[in-house]
Amino acid sequence: MTEKFDIPFKSDLVPEILENADVIQFRCHKGASCFNACCKQADVTLTPYDIVRLKQHLGLTSEEFLKQHTVPFKMDAHGVPGVKLKTDESGACLFVRDEGCSVYGDRPTACRYYPVGLMAMRPKDEPTDKARYFLIREDHCKGHREERRLSVGDYRKEQELETYDDMNREWLQINLKKRSSGPTIGEPSELSLQLFFMCSFDADRFRRFVLSDSFRGTYDLEDGFYAEIETDDLALMKFGFGLMKQVLFGEKTIPERAGALEKRQEVRKEHMAMRRRSELERHEKEQEDLLRDST
Ligand code: SF4
Ligand code: SF4
Repeated sequence: MTEKFDIPFKSDLVPEILENADVIQFRCHKGASCFNACCKQADVTLTPYDIVRLKQHLGLTSEEFLKQHTVPFKMDAHGVPGVKLKTDESGACLFVRDEGCSVYGDRPTACRYYPVGLMAMRPKDEPTDKARYFLIREDHCKGHREERRLSVGDYRKEQELETYDDMNREWLQINLKKRSSGPTIGEPSELSLQLFFMCSFDADRFRRFVLSDSFRGTYDLEDGFYAEIETDDLALMKFGFGLMKQVLFGEKTIPERAGALEKRQEVRKEHMAMRRRSELERHEKEQEDLLRDST
């Protein structure tokens, strides 16, 4: 089972698998004749951490960022939602300028990795996945002709990918688990897909949800936790990973209030019954009106 980041350039090439210590020959710089070529045909899948960095860089809420800078797509056959950076009609990233990337300090994971790709592979019968890499060689990219050799590990350091990998790891594991356990747990419900989207990408909506009375009534968490996530996007993101694991896979790490879920289910049942009753009454009234009109 493998999980692959989309790279910022559309490609059907089958890559060679690399380890951290393997050496690659590559350098990207402003003087390269192909400078910006990759960003002009961008296909960049975003992680939750990418969105936190970019929305903070741009001073936007997550809702504004998602609306202005992303397009939704389905990450797998079950319809698990993902988001990609929006491009213009020619396929160019909206952040590319003549002088380079306008969000360079906070550019997404996939942009940092390119032309190295990241794969999470879970060897059969092993509980944890392992990172593997691959090199994409495309004609337009002249960086492979530069006289610079370095290990994949050093390239990852140079691109500050160790931080990004740390922040992305848990989310990629959730994706991997969701896909590998997919057929055994059946189709994910619409509600679970909505929760996945909100926890993964829409931090500000997720924050309102966590701070709501009904959430506080369901989970048994300290006041200090709520104070922290009110302002800390990363703490909120990590909490979201835990909540997804709890709701999607039943891995209980967040304490629930005794009887709270049962109470909410009761309330929901009552609401449903009330809705059914009022629909029935409306239908009966429509029938009465119809009869009266026809006599
Ligand atoms: S975010 Fe920056 S590096 Fe990534 S595709 Fe856009 S312009 Fe290029
Ligand atoms: S060397 Fe490759 S990665 Fe760098 S700008 Fe050129 S096409 Fe993009």
